[in-house]
Amino acid sequence: MVLFLKDLNYMYLTENINLKVSDILSNGVWSYNNELHQIFHNFKMPEVLGGEDILLWTRNLIGEFSTSEAVNKLRNREQSVNWSKYLWTHFLHHFVARNVWKLIQGIYTDDKSMVKNRYEIVSRCRICETEQDSMNHLLWECNFSIDIWRWICFIFQFKLPKSFEDIWKCASNCSPLVKQVWITTVCIILKELWFQKNKIFFEDIKPNMQGFKCRIMKFVNEGGLRITGTKWNQNYDHEMIEKFQLGFRHSGFRYIKKYHWLLPEQDIVMFCCDVSSFGNTGSQDVVLLSLVRDSACQVLGTLSGSIGVASNYLAESYGIMCALELEIQWSMHKIIIMSDSKYVLAEFSQERVPWFLKGRWHMATRKLNQIEYQRCYREVNFPADCMAKKGALLAAGERKIHIGRPQCLPRVEMENVEYFRFG
Ligand SMILES: [Zn+2]
Repeated sequence: MVLFLKDLNYMYLTENINLKVSDILSNGVWSYNNELHQIFHNFKMPEVLGGEDILLWTRNLIGEFSTSEAVNKLRNREQSVNWSKYLWTHFLHHFVARNVWKLIQGIYTDDKSMVKNRYEIVSRCRICETEQDSMNHLLWECNFSIDIWRWICFIFQFKLPKSFEDIWKCASNCSPLVKQVWITTVCIILKELWFQKNKIFFEDIKPNMQGFKCRIMKFVNEGGLRITGTKWNQNYDHEMIEKFQLGFRHSGFRYIKKYHWLLPEQDIVMFCCDVSSFGNTGSQDVVLLSLVRDSACQVLGTLSGSIGVASNYLAESYGIMCALELEIQWSMHKIIIMSDSKYVLAEFSQERVPWFLKGRWHMATRKLNQIEYQRCYREVNFPADCMAKKGALLAAGERKIHIGRPQCLPRVEMENVEYFRFG
């Protein structure tokens, strides 16, 4: 109860801070006075199942305590940064990533920081010998580094970068392969520009443009072993592969697989569940749908509903839950639940449902003789997918049941028809 009411400031609750669930539950029925009635009339109270009390860890959807989640709750979270997804990747060698991370975080010493720390030095860039030495100058403004950026941008046909922000954005419209090659290349360049300064300082090795370029090409070619992104079948991608000698690369689709839709057996009803989300941020409006099919291939009805902002896992769980409740309403006893979410199906088949749905789930499954959970790919569940997308017009909390096949559903899956999946 605390979960639902913690954000609401009700005078009665603050005055009765020790109120317990057992005070408003008598003989398995919710019973409360007028004050509480005013608070609860907007809430759908959970089903009372009876039995022993159970202890729930509410941070976990299943209700089970885990040390990792407890640590996660306690730990201090820093602000998220946009460069981490480019840097901490499988295709970039950790040695390169680590050094670029130091550059981004400012973990280095240059003359500018020495002067700031009151060292009396005469500062001069050891490469171009014209400007004051600083990391910003070395990476983006020094004649040598500008020539290197010009050279690499000519190869990739990108605009000259002037900051870290620029280099992350450059390849945003390219294939996964080119994106990975670009990030690998620029990170190697950044690391080499920094290391070159040390070579001049400690080993007295003069900067050499040709040698530098050869080193970059060699390192990118070696880094190609880690690059797994797929290419697009266009000349630009082929030119990049050739330039860095990356060898054979796969294009977008690696395989095409055949699938069939299987008709449910006699007396068994199939619920094809799917969810669709709308919005392009982390929190999305989710619409769920169940399409009901019988053994004669007929569409018995559809159920669509919107649950507002929710995660995909929750939406899939609610979708299955609504299908189970519809089965009680329609007095069905043998059912198959089909969904493309392997994880949610596995959890439901092991009775590991979200803790706040447990009551509803027990009530729904109590009357069933047979329940089977089947995973299917979206390619053989396309009517549910299509209907879920149309459900975008529903308001949060709204539910619609349609008896029979809706007019807006032009095609449904048929037995003995081949469906293809591109992977
Ligand atoms: Zn310089």
